[in-house]
Amino acid sequence: MSGTAKRAAARPVTPLRVLAVASEGFPFIKTGGLADVVGALPGALAPEGVAVTTMLPGYPAVMAALGPVQASVQASEPVADFFGAPARLVRTKAAGRDLLVLDAPHFFARSGSPYLAPTGGDWPDNAMRFAALGRAAAQAAQGVGGMAGFDAVHAHDWQAGLAPAYLRFAGSRVPTLFTIHNLAFQGQFPANMFGLLGLPPEAFATAGLEYFGMVGYLKSGIWFADRVSTVSPGYAAEIRTPQWGMGLDGLLRGRGNAVSGILNGLDTAEWDPSADAHLPMRFTAKTVANRAANKKALQARMGLASNPDAPLFAFIGRLAWQKGVDLILEALPAILDHGGQLAILGSGEPALEERVHGATGAQIGRVGSFIGFDEGFARLCYGGADFMLMPSRFEPSGLGQLCALRYGAPPVVAHVGGLADSVVDANEMALASGVGTGFNFAPVSREMLAAAIERAIALYREPELMQRVQANAMAQDVSWKRSAAKYATAFRKMVAARA
Ligand code: ADP
Repeated sequence: MSGTAKRAAARPVTPLRVLAVASEGFPFIKTGGLADVVGALPGALAPEGVAVTTMLPGYPAVMAALGPVQASVQASEPVADFFGAPARLVRTKAAGRDLLVLDAPHFFARSGSPYLAPTGGDWPDNAMRFAALGRAAAQAAQGVGGMAGFDAVHAHDWQAGLAPAYLRFAGSRVPTLFTIHNLAFQGQFPANMFGLLGLPPEAFATAGLEYFGMVGYLKSGIWFADRVSTVSPGYAAEIRTPQWGMGLDGLLRGRGNAVSGILNGLDTAEWDPSADAHLPMRFTAKTVANRAANKKALQARMGLASNPDAPLFAFIGRLAWQKGVDLILEALPAILDHGGQLAILGSGEPALEERVHGATGAQIGRVGSFIGFDEGFARLCYGGADFMLMPSRFEPSGLGQLCALRYGAPPVVAHVGGLADSVVDANEMALASGVGTGFNFAPVSREMLAAAIERAIALYREPELMQRVQANAMAQDVSWKRSAAKYATAFRKMVAARA
């Protein structure tokens, strides 16, 4: 029997049934990397013997995408009354994924951002909206209204943070893994709403979901889940320190080895430069010269001078302090003084948008920008830019650098979190060993970013070396394969520990 056959034979016949709970999931609803991860995990976990059903709130975009309803739990069932108005759970299949949708129109039938009211601030009832999600998830996990339950729950970020608490106080045996995608978003609400949650009084304690006198949804997830993961080993270490623990480092240290880091992957079928319809010229590692046509198209679309010899740096992402876009603008001379160009695609804080506009206006033909969110444009950047810039001050995992590696645009990244875990610095030693895939710099400062940019430009001026780094980048395994196996192991261990 071959090794592969042996492994296949050893695989359990009945898959582990996992209920993933999140407020976003690609391709239904997306505001950031969370959606990509939630959307990709079901496909990545299936070969590992884990069958994922994804539970999402019934936002208009989600309701519009529903396939034929396979089952729904209606008014007479316990799921019916969620904090004041009728709701139902709808089981369906859409875009190849098994879904469980919490159809609670009074909470979720609102178009636009899942979190923000049209006036810009958070929806005032966000605490109740996501309490409903957590409570419905806990019910579904145990089986509700004739729907079978699940072996384990995978709760993502603060919006799903109450699910482990509801399960714990229901005395359920269903274990939970709580995954933190960004510790900066904690879901904290005034103490006086605690009484509305239907949790026993002892839940509101330091040894519970209380967080400095507030109700903390992320705190709840970290405290009540069986295991906690975050999206890279580097970030898992960083958040145990006061500098990056955002007030939760003590708790995270206290949970000991129940906390681990599992690096995000990329859906490599979805992100494939040899088949990407958004690229004027598709390419593989062997035909990387085809990127020149994409660079030309990108220069034209960004209003940059059409120049095949100008090293073209691009940034894609939220215009936020976290992402260090201000450092890029401050390090601009390192690019421009060496004949380089900069392209920025993103949106976010108005002050940063203003600065990006200012730099574009001041350097016409050398700096180009587009303020907005555009998936196709992003793919043209990954497939046409020479380097991607990610000078994040902190970065739980980061997906942009994985896209950049896959599309042969060596990423220039801050040595933090998931960026440090996924980009191999192309220093002389690494190049001699054939392993460099981009550039790392630390500490995160304008000066060190500028120095890394200068190293990148020096590489660019040596085409043979540049191609070697591009080939290394494209050969790096950025798929979900390894990480999916780690998630599967975590689920199995949790289930075994509760058995
Ligand atoms: P975040 O902290 O925002 O989740 P990630 O790097 O984990 O950052 O994921 C961001 C994802 O969203 C990446 O796939 C990136 O390409 C994409 N993205 C970010 N901003 C934009 C934009 N303005 N247009 C298109 N795609 C974007």
